[in-house]
Amino acid sequence: MIKGFKNAVELDFSVEENRRKLEEAFQQVNAEKGKTYPLIIGGEKIETEKKITSLSPATKEVLGYACSCSRELADKAIQTADEAFKTWSRTPAEERIRCLRRLTRLIEENRFILDAWNVEESGKNWGEADGELCEALDFFNSYAMHMANLDKGLELVPTDELTKCIYIPIGVGAIIPPWNFPLSICGGMVTAALVTGNSVICKPSSDTPIVAYKFVELCLKAGFPAGTINYIPGSGSEIGDYIVEHPRTRFINFTGSKAVGCRINEKAAKVADGQIWLKRVVAEMGGKNAIIVDSTANIKKAAAGVASSAFTFQGQKCSACSRALVMSDVYDEFVEEVVKCAKDLKEHQGSGASNAPMGPVINQAAYDSITGYIEVGRKEGKIVYGGTYSDTEGFYIDPTVIRDVDKDARIANEEIFGPVLAVVKVDSFDEALAIANQTEYGLTGSVYSETREHIQKAKVEFQVGNLYFNRKSTAAVVLQHPFGGFNMSGTDAKTGTSDYLTNFLNLKSVTEDL
Ligand code: NAP
Repeated sequence: MIKGFKNAVELDFSVEENRRKLEEAFQQVNAEKGKTYPLIIGGEKIETEKKITSLSPATKEVLGYACSCSRELADKAIQTADEAFKTWSRTPAEERIRCLRRLTRLIEENRFILDAWNVEESGKNWGEADGELCEALDFFNSYAMHMANLDKGLELVPTDELTKCIYIPIGVGAIIPPWNFPLSICGGMVTAALVTGNSVICKPSSDTPIVAYKFVELCLKAGFPAGTINYIPGSGSEIGDYIVEHPRTRFINFTGSKAVGCRINEKAAKVADGQIWLKRVVAEMGGKNAIIVDSTANIKKAAAGVASSAFTFQGQKCSACSRALVMSDVYDEFVEEVVKCAKDLKEHQGSGASNAPMGPVINQAAYDSITGYIEVGRKEGKIVYGGTYSDTEGFYIDPTVIRDVDKDARIANEEIFGPVLAVVKVDSFDEALAIANQTEYGLTGSVYSETREHIQKAKVEFQVGNLYFNRKSTAAVVLQHPFGGFNMSGTDAKTGTSDYLTNFLNLKSVTEDL
């Protein structure tokens, strides 16, 4: 039962005071640009020679340098976390929850500066950054609430014996988040593990190490003991495999691409010398999300929903729509409307700091990959809007609509993770459902239809973890739309729920004869 839980409310930036506070935070960020961020192991700040450069995707300006962790230091971090686990795992849940509640307060107190750093480092706009901060608050509040319930243990039938079945923490976790939600996904993954009594090493994305650093600092300030949370940036190739394969790593909590998730799953499955458990892997991965537009749909509404799902945050949400499957009798009308929406977004393209609705993509590699797909799309269909891009100042790609795409085209099946929409024509609702289900992914999906029978059919047959009707496929809210995908989209972890926390717990049944 969910009592007393309320989702956090986004700031209204049309309010002068909020705008002023955020502008002040940007000034503070400007003053801090170029700083070096050390590793944090057992509360100790350690500088290393090798650095990861955090670049602004909007301007390519250097935002700061994160120290890069070596294998030796990663080993030290795991040993430190292992040592801290001994006491933290026996610390009453009440105290762990208290730390999480304090963290929530600290995040609220540091709201504007966290938003400003997120805007600069990930390239999102003000509303997106503050929406993400709200999601982080929701995760923390939900995990505090769930932990209090789980701490009561399982309900059992009464007998003559005294039996309790209690949840206990499992060990040291490697937390490996993506760059696109550097506060909420990283924060949710870390705090779920900590509040359940585990200790962690957090290897942030190399694209957003500063937001992660600020978050870890607040965790320590909130009272999570030094050693329970360790911050070790480093490239996947240098320390990624090492921390996954380490015999003292008990679980891996990963969110990112399918390729890296599969690699982690495979490496974690191998039992290392001296390892006395099978590692648990939570892996939330990519998507190739489809929206079906039926003949009976409100086409204007459908086009607006598709455009918002496909182009906001430059199509870099795992829930973003990248395929519109549209019935032939409304196909031309839909394309016309979706192009209008794309045009409108393009007119307001700019940096996150200028609060433009559409900003840059994260880095050069993403820019090269997405523009490569646009060129593939030029051959696989007809570009009716966008298809243009520039990396002169930052990494800007125009919202791109490609029509007449075959269902088996590459751009209709591979995750692009950028502002590119493939529009596929279908002749029946059954055909639309079959195409929606034909990729290896199964993360989000949506259907715009007024035909009851089609809606009912899709509820059963559309194979995705998060399914929506007559609304966009993005913007899942904690405890309103528990999030996680099927098939190659991941282990369906359903973040924000009590179930999610049980990934990091064992159940221990203890019986005493009376
Ligand atoms: P990514 O390239 O897979 O990276 C994710 C994390 O894995 C980063 O911290 C990365 O570190 C690390 N990594 C890379 N190689 C590794 C290795 N060999 N061992 C251990 N860690 C390794 O993904 P991304 O570009 O950050 O994020 C975009 C992807 O995430 C998309 O596919 C998107 O759909 C998916 N995503 C899914 C969800 C979901 O809930 N299902 C949510 C958000 C994003 P480096 O940065 O140092 O390489």
